[in-house]
Amino acid sequence: MAIRYFIPPNSSYFYECKKCLIPFANLDDITSAEFTRRGIKSYQFSKVVNIKFGKIFDTNIRSKHYLIQNAYCSGCLTKVGWRYEFTFNDEEQHKEDMTIINKAYVIHHVDPNCKE
Ligand SMILES: [Zn+2]
Repeated sequence: MAIRYFIPPNSSYFYECKKCLIPFANLDDITSAEFTRRGIKSYQFSKVVNIKFGKIFDTNIRSKHYLIQNAYCSGCLTKVGWRYEFTFNDEEQHKEDMTIINKAYVIHHVDPNCKE
């Protein structure tokens, strides 16, 4: 059975699951390409598609308190990262709803018809 998934609009260049090749985000949705936590290099996206989120739990990141959710590929259910659900620090509110995806689980897909 074919897997149904959502393709981001204007998706001439997007990031997708390394394992099942489902698209996660457009190039325009990346807010940091250099996010690192505990030595794991990741991308930070403002918008993602084809991601399922787990239960909300609280954690500390760089001594700041957050509620986060684990993020799973909706195609192959691999845990690919996590999302900032809520922050208890006013100066960190810009991080809410940002999704962090481990670089080890994504590849770039470039449409050969793209004229960039
Ligand atoms: Zn996948």
